Amino acid sequence: MALAFAGLVPHSPLLAPNIGKEHRAQLGKTLEAYSLLSKNLVTTQPDAIVIISAHAASGPDWWNANVCLNYQVDLSLFGDLLTQGQWSGALGLAEELQNFLGQTEQLRFYSQPQLDYGTAVPLLLLGEDLKTVPILPIGYIDNQPERQAEFGRRLGEFLRQWPGKAALIGSGDLAHCLGANQPSGLQARGHKFDQRLQEALRQNDSQALLELSMDKANETGQCAWLAYLTLQAALNGQPGSWQNLAYEAPFGVGGAVWQWQPASAD
Ligand SMILES: [Zn+2]
Repeated sequence: MALAFAGLVPHSPLLAPNIGKEHRAQLGKTLEAYSLLSKNLVTTQPDAIVIISAHAASGPDWWNANVCLNYQVDLSLFGDLLTQGQWSGALGLAEELQNFLGQTEQLRFYSQPQLDYGTAVPLLLLGEDLKTVPILPIGYIDNQPERQAEFGRRLGEFLRQWPGKAALIGSGDLAHCLGANQPSGLQARGHKFDQRLQEALRQNDSQALLELSMDKANETGQCAWLAYLTLQAALNGQPGSWQNLAYEAPFGVGGAVWQWQPASAD
């Protein structure tokens, strides 16, 4: 029926209450943007959330979807043994998407009930009201931005004709080299990368987004570019624009929250 919602979010583990603790105060803009995004997402009453995660398993020549009946949060990698959360899998959607994509944008399934943190941190921050919505986490293809964009275009096409209301979330962090302990040249290139990436989104310019250099992207340590490309391609040609809800980098890693604003129908 519709691609009812699209948003781009960061996934620093410091955003999780039991990991970030007092440091969360410095991520106030991001957390506020997350709660606004969550409120907006709840009002669309989605039937499923497809989440493109930088840290789900990537595929050398295909895309991997983590398909499970039930998933749990596991942040033990970051010393957090307390945080809990459970979501169910959007199994029907996964199968239909796989059939829709066919052999060209091949989607393969794996099952890992412990969610990767690129999926888990955003889901935790989206809050209780969305915990009953089935999810489908999908990773990136390795080092092939054009194919990733084509995947996004086909994903958008699929979600628009899917019988339910789908939300699409892209999860990734921007430059990781913005801290004062980094060489100043690298810091400057990281800032420039974050600016160019976000400017392309602001201008709704798919080509500019695609033309960012892979070498520069890799140098900054970012993990968001392919998520941005996917969502931009999924929405390409749709009436609307991207709205920035937050950008900050208090711990040397750029984190941005963006929401797609459909043009009003009147
Ligand atoms: Zn990341």
